[in-house]
Amino acid sequence: MDSYSKHYNTIVIGIGGMGSATVYELAKRGQRVLGLEQYDIPHDMGSSHGYTRIIRMAYYEHPSYVMLLKRAYELWNEIEQRSGEKLLHKIGSIDAGPADSWVFKGSFRSVIEHNTPHEVLSGKELNTRFPGYQLPHDTMAVYQKDGGFLVPERCTVAFANAAMAMGAEIHGRETVLGWEPVGDGVRVFTNRATYEADSLVITAGAWNSDILPLLNGLATPERQVLAWFQPERPELYQPDVFPVFNLLTDDARSYGFPIYGVPGFKIGIYHHFEEHERPEQFEWEPSVEDEELLREHTARHFPKAAGPTLTLKTCMFTNSPDKHFIIDLHPQYPQVSFGAGFSGHGYKFASVIGEIMADMAERQETRHDISLFNAARFTGQVSDLHINKLGLEPGRMTQRRVARPTQRRGGRRHFINRQMSYLERRDRLHDRRRRNASMGLYGNGYGKGHAAGQTAGSHAPQRSQRPMRRRADGIYTPSRYLDGRRDVQDRWDDDTVEPFW
Ligand SMILES: Cc1cc2nc3c(=O)[nH]c(=O)nc-3n(C[C@H](O)[C@H](O)[C@H](O)COP(=O)(O)OP(=O)(O)OC[C@H]3O[C@@H](n4cnc5c(N)ncnc54)[C@H](O)[C@@H]3O)c2cc1C
Repeated sequence: MDSYSKHYNTIVIGIGGMGSATVYELAKRGQRVLGLEQYDIPHDMGSSHGYTRIIRMAYYEHPSYVMLLKRAYELWNEIEQRSGEKLLHKIGSIDAGPADSWVFKGSFRSVIEHNTPHEVLSGKELNTRFPGYQLPHDTMAVYQKDGGFLVPERCTVAFANAAMAMGAEIHGRETVLGWEPVGDGVRVFTNRATYEADSLVITAGAWNSDILPLLNGLATPERQVLAWFQPERPELYQPDVFPVFNLLTDDARSYGFPIYGVPGFKIGIYHHFEEHERPEQFEWEPSVEDEELLREHTARHFPKAAGPTLTLKTCMFTNSPDKHFIIDLHPQYPQVSFGAGFSGHGYKFASVIGEIMADMAERQETRHDISLFNAARFTGQVSDLHINKLGLEPGRMTQRRVARPTQRRGGRRHFINRQMSYLERRDRLHDRRRRNASMGLYGNGYGKGHAAGQTAGSHAPQRSQRPMRRRADGIYTPSRYLDGRRDVQDRWDDDTVEPFW
């Protein structure tokens, strides 16, 4: 391909959950758009795989999300119509926890404040109505009938297909190595070619800070593991009788799904073992410890689901420090926008994030209220998007205005250090798996002598840094729930951030 052979209105880096929706929105508006993705479309090396993602209107995280959710539902409906495929399954959602917990109180307050149809159920009522659940009777739950799940890999396919049908160009297996501003536009360098565009959208998930150094330390990848178990009573875990859930208990905050797409009841625990690593350093192959953590929680609260293991999968959260999204224009180059730090709860918004990112690429503003997501809350550098909304002190404005004119004529190149190709990365991954297998740790060796349902034995991996301990009552749990760092009933999900409700 010739260098600079093509000029685009917008280039989107990362065709995962958010990027695929963005490319679609831009193509819908008649833009000449190029989407660049380092892996396949879709793939299972990022944050948007695993067959199902929860969507719910009861939003305990913050009231600002509810208006966005309303638009997200409309846009999910639109892409469903266009693709002719069912992507959103409204089977109901449960948000449950102790009566005074932020999960229950927050969900309840959000449905009241936004007049969202709902029911409040006690643990006993919930267990009777949906017998797949076995929660303590003093649990309180918000049941919301419009909740349910999306099918993320199929959504990525639907967005990509619709975008290409409207003229978008999407390149898989092409890694962006860097970019630089050129006048009011941008130049993007990949392992295959160089492209130019009027604007750049960065939706690179766990790799965002490689491409955008200002996000260093602000969009932190975290390893997550999901398990699918074979229920003893599969009829209790079908989509028509088992709503998706967010559940806060004394051993974990978890989320789960009925049987759908692949066999088994699916469950995950927020922040799992709190393993914060670069994606290249992750142990992608799930371990016995991963399985054990998920099994013990399942056995306690969904006993009829905790049968033999069917599938284990690793995925990545990319957390912002306060777990709210970071969506903004670049403070020096407003032709560059980014969506980052979707923190384990972003997928349900992908459709509306696509609309927001397209707005920002097109006109550097959006009609949606995204003030909560401004990057300046961490960086102190306010972008054009938020400058009028945040009530800035003039000093900051001056700083920005001084910096900009010199940058406009062409500024610093932003290059990624990690210039490995897809094939190099894949080979490294396979090498590591082979090494682990030969040491009898994970990978191919995992299945040896391992009966489904068996807990960690002599071949359990030795991960000294894993913060997991056995409680007095025998429950195996991440130590954050034991050492007083965290009161699971009243705290947002790390030590520094209070819940909003
Ligand atoms: C286990 C798990 C469960 C979750 N459950 C839910 C849920 O139930 N509900 C919910 O709403 N949210 C959930 N989330 C969160 C949600 O899935 C994420 O917030 C969302 O998928 C993030 O999408 P993204 O586009 O930012 O990242 P991704 O989908 O990972 O996309 C980023 C893309 O950028 C590409 N890329 C990166 N660097 C480059 C480069 N240099 N060149 C080219 N391409 C590049 C990557 O390969 C990737 O495809 C969950 C997340 C996980 C991990």
